[in-house]
Amino acid sequence: MNEPAAGPGVSVPKEGAHLVLLGTVAGPVLHPRRMMSSQAVVVDGAVYLFDCGYGALTRFAASGLRLADVRAIFITHHHSDHNADYVNLIHLAWIQGLTRKLPVFGPPPMQRIHTAALAFHGEDFDIRIRATGRTPPAECFAVQEISAPGVVFEDENVRVSSALVDHPPFAHAFGFRVDARARAQDRSIVLSGDTAPCEAMVELAKGADLLLHEAMYEPGIDAMLASRPYVPPGLRSFLVNGHTSAEDCGRIAQRAGVKTLALTHLLPSDDGLVSDEVWAREAAKHFGGAIIVGQDLMVL
Ligand SMILES: [Zn+2]
Ligand SMILES: [Zn+2]
Repeated sequence: MNEPAAGPGVSVPKEGAHLVLLGTVAGPVLHPRRMMSSQAVVVDGAVYLFDCGYGALTRFAASGLRLADVRAIFITHHHSDHNADYVNLIHLAWIQGLTRKLPVFGPPPMQRIHTAALAFHGEDFDIRIRATGRTPPAECFAVQEISAPGVVFEDENVRVSSALVDHPPFAHAFGFRVDARARAQDRSIVLSGDTAPCEAMVELAKGADLLLHEAMYEPGIDAMLASRPYVPPGLRSFLVNGHTSAEDCGRIAQRAGVKTLALTHLLPSDDGLVSDEVWAREAAKHFGGAIIVGQDLMVL
């Protein structure tokens, strides 16, 4: 087994099933302390990567995890704060030397985006193949588009299921549930992706050990927009209609009966507008379980 080594400031246990937060802010934005959406579920050292927004690779490197241990990649939807680092992720994974086809799952147009990523680095790929005899990248990835909910992927460590969530105007945006079978203990981890409050998320999260849900706080959004030099006319309603308040995250967690609720994809994205105490207080209005306010490189 390939075991992930501990990186600087973070230690991912070699045994068990763990969620590593690689980016915790809503974007796209430039943020001094937080990167955009990305999570690694690590099961007895095997890595399953969910989303790779701006900065995800930087956090992945700092986590001490290794691209060689990534077994599959899942993209929730094609906002850039969830897929921007994909172009470099697949290049670096290829450089690390894929020994089998790496599965990639995402909603349409996942295949077109993958092809475009290969084209972006095409000159570099060609030169390295000619110089070193590497396997062409087209033979190293198995891209599969998903457009309906259900079981997406299964191996000896995990079963990954999806739910179609409500993130207008996307026709296809997914949340994922990972039922992990670690040697020591089973664990269920649910990732909301981006969504307004929806029944599909309650169903997906039923009885889960850990629900990582995106969260917004509307008074903070207003403060953020008031400080922006430019705000397009439809931005506020676009944000508020496509996401879930921390208070509603608590409602969803309570109805689903999860043990722990962790908040991520924090919106507003600007620093200092919403304290951890406010995030937790909002979620606790309707949820009696444990609440965690996500930070980059947390291991849960
Ligand atoms: Zn997002
Ligand atoms: Zn989104």
